Amino acid sequence: MTEAKPITILGMPKPFRGHIGTIQRNAIKSWSKLQPRPEIILFGHEEGVAECARDFALIHIPEVARNRHGTPLLADIFACAERRASHDLFAYVNADIILPKEFTLGVEKVRHTFSKFLAVGRRTNLEVRDPLDFGEGWEEKLKERMHREGQLESHTGIDFFVFPRGTYEEVPPVAIGRVWFDQWCIKYARKKGLPVIDLTSFAPIVHQLHDYSHVAGGKQWVYNGIEADENLVYYGERQHTYTILSATHLMTTQGRIRRVFFREEAFAIKRFLWETFVHKTRTIRKRFGLSGGAGSEVTNETTMSADSLLPARPATESAPAKKQASLVSSGALSCPACGRTAGVQPAEQYGRYSLYACASCDLRFWEPRELPDARWYEQMYGGRDEKLLPLEPGHKYFLADPLAAGQGELLDIGCGTGNFLAAARDAGYEVSGTELDRNAARFARERVGLPRVFPLTISEFVDRYPDKKFEVVTFFEVLEHQAAPVEFLQKVKSCLRSRGFIALSVPNRERWLTGPDVLDYPPNHFLRWNTHALTNFLNTHGFEILSVREQEAGFVHTVQMINLSLRTGLSRSRAEEAPASFRDVIQMEPDQAEAVLHAAPTVRQRAMRMLRRIRYAVCFPAALAVYPYVWMRGYKGTYLYCLARLKD
Ligand SMILES: [Zn+2]
Repeated sequence: MTEAKPITILGMPKPFRGHIGTIQRNAIKSWSKLQPRPEIILFGHEEGVAECARDFALIHIPEVARNRHGTPLLADIFACAERRASHDLFAYVNADIILPKEFTLGVEKVRHTFSKFLAVGRRTNLEVRDPLDFGEGWEEKLKERMHREGQLESHTGIDFFVFPRGTYEEVPPVAIGRVWFDQWCIKYARKKGLPVIDLTSFAPIVHQLHDYSHVAGGKQWVYNGIEADENLVYYGERQHTYTILSATHLMTTQGRIRRVFFREEAFAIKRFLWETFVHKTRTIRKRFGLSGGAGSEVTNETTMSADSLLPARPATESAPAKKQASLVSSGALSCPACGRTAGVQPAEQYGRYSLYACASCDLRFWEPRELPDARWYEQMYGGRDEKLLPLEPGHKYFLADPLAAGQGELLDIGCGTGNFLAAARDAGYEVSGTELDRNAARFARERVGLPRVFPLTISEFVDRYPDKKFEVVTFFEVLEHQAAPVEFLQKVKSCLRSRGFIALSVPNRERWLTGPDVLDYPPNHFLRWNTHALTNFLNTHGFEILSVREQEAGFVHTVQMINLSLRTGLSRSRAEEAPASFRDVIQMEPDQAEAVLHAAPTVRQRAMRMLRRIRYAVCFPAALAVYPYVWMRGYKGTYLYCLARLKD
């Protein structure tokens, strides 16, 4: 290898106070000992930064752009580096990280292999209380301690970023030192198609453990505060979408650079197996005396969850309860179901939409909610309008429900090609339906022999036939699409006889999910219901609940969930080649969506499709093994069905 070229290290230290001062000096000293000696730039006017720069003969840039909370912005640090750095390779390193000599070696190898890249590393946590002695053999001593006492951080702990000048051209105003800025850096590189090299094995770095007294709200603020939420918005992804598992290459301990595949998938399988067979069976195993003593169990769980489980779980279902504590002061929202204030932090962000949770009635709803036009429905649901689909579980529950009316006039809102109406007619109801998709409505009339299927919205129907009253109004898989559920229910009521029935189904928010359900995003679905929210909603709007049924997770659902847990990883790591997911397509402009929906698949996409089929097939034997457990635990399936009756 030719002689190594020096690099420029960028550091943004916290105030040099007490213990944090000590460990930052340890860290920066280790940087200055690298060979060839790097140029080091320290940013910020925090206490002690100028002194540290002077003591170690470093460059100091006191003024950096900050957000309204006073936290420095990544964009300005990178921009300063472009202007001020003497070298062409930059390393942004967290200021409590000790770099070993392998760091420069590894970086040099990467530089020789790729012209453009991002190199990252995962930290090992180590308790360091005192100034380190940098005398003879300090690195060997530290490594020995690291092996003995250190703990490798989870795949979400990324502490350095090495990249050539000019890599980060557009940086959003993410705050440094708050979560998600690190994952944004990886996302940016991946989106640009740059190789991302994981140096963890070759150059293990030491993170000296510390408290979070430098942040006003402590560790909670770093992870859950407003700045964290703002960073998440700029990040623009679900939490933990881009972690060190998203690296395209890794450097082995021998220093060879290897392309890596299926890292996220392997992780997803590991997590799935762990959750299914270890974590959730703990009580059962304990009862049968199959698990180790309490002590060993706890240790095991702590390492596993620290390593992997908790951070990578989709935050959709668990986050809101935690986050309600930190209220946004402005722009309180009102819940579309109960009307009470639900002005809380979004629980999830997707594109321009935010998901909120109502503390009063338990509904989850997306903002903004604007119903798409007819063209959108035709685009997204096209192809369903020329065949009679099989009955859905909600339909079957209704037809078998002993508390249902059993006869009389029935109106089905959103009846599609009329599969349910035909079955209800056979069961003894006099049926009518509304369906916006004109092709589907025509199919229902002409091919299924249902003369009273109207291509109207429920409002249009009520306006046109104000005197028409029904014994039963049904709306299966409709309520989750509504932007204004109260208004929708008013329309339903206005075409019901007194003591009339309604029957409906919605996707159950509490169904067993191992990844994001791509159909369950706006503008397709705006509302996420569970039994509590749904019965609450119907009750407060004048209905008496007669029956509620939650579908259980069946065998096919189990297959799909195993497949989904694998797919979540696969589609991410192959994001560039994979066709856009439904979740993305539904948010596109009509013309763009049209192009995506009708684009001919490339050879690569066809290969991917084949791979997905094979993977799906492989899930069956796996599901066979897991299903008895799923059944025993009573996991919930997709459908939540409800029958209710208008009160007097
Ligand atoms: Zn509410």
